[in-house]
Amino acid sequence: MTDGPTDSGTPGVPEHGKKARKVVEPPAPARAMSIHAHPDDQEFTVGGTLAKWARAGSTIVTVCITRGTGGSNKFTPRDMTREALGPIREAEQRSACRVLGVAETWFLDYPDGMLEATIALRRDLTRLIRRFRPDAVLCGDPTVRYYGSSYLNHPDHRAAADAALDAVFPSAGTRLIFPELLAEGLEPHEVREVYIHGAERSDTYVDIGSTMDMKLAALREHRSQMGEWDPKDFLVEWAKEQGVRAGLEAAEAYRRMVLEGP
Ligand SMILES: [Zn+2]
Repeated sequence: MTDGPTDSGTPGVPEHGKKARKVVEPPAPARAMSIHAHPDDQEFTVGGTLAKWARAGSTIVTVCITRGTGGSNKFTPRDMTREALGPIREAEQRSACRVLGVAETWFLDYPDGMLEATIALRRDLTRLIRRFRPDAVLCGDPTVRYYGSSYLNHPDHRAAADAALDAVFPSAGTRLIFPELLAEGLEPHEVREVYIHGAERSDTYVDIGSTMDMKLAALREHRSQMGEWDPKDFLVEWAKEQGVRAGLEAAEAYRRMVLEGP
């Protein structure tokens, strides 16, 4: 499950010639919250894990910070407006969540493409964490600026992850941060685990062999973003890459934090 702090490895480089270690997968949390910037981010990154956990009985809440009104460079028609695209993408995200077995889906309606890790966003996420009291939160890695040599991490992804982690700690668990939330009746809540996907150094691997089909089906619900593109080969290959170090055919890899509290 974990490599420990002394095993740095080389980010993104499979350890050829080294036997894959035996990994122990953490049990599904009773309650989990998935926090992402755009419709479809969740399906690309953690969809297999959420489907697996939902099947195991976890209650899962999805928080989508924007409604994805920036669209796609490739597939959004020239005459589409942000106003018209919002409801389409929201409906697609809700359908994808149904496929994965997510219990509730929330949209915060921050502007796509202009997201910042503001105190207002941190407060909104803290409010949802205190309301739903998840044991585990899943989000991206705010420290990653580049992936490989062909993808600049989207600024909204970094902002969403930054705000999510700051909401988890210290805001959600500290009584006197955001006292206005206390006034709303929302008591502090300590999140126990954080699953950070897209981290440069992963230490936890969820075997998604049994839910790969659901991940793919959920992703296909985002029709306005996919166009004619079939994501299957891409997803299968990516899941394989993520599983290499754990000896898995298909995985979602994470940096997992287990928070010990004060
Ligand atoms: Zn995105």
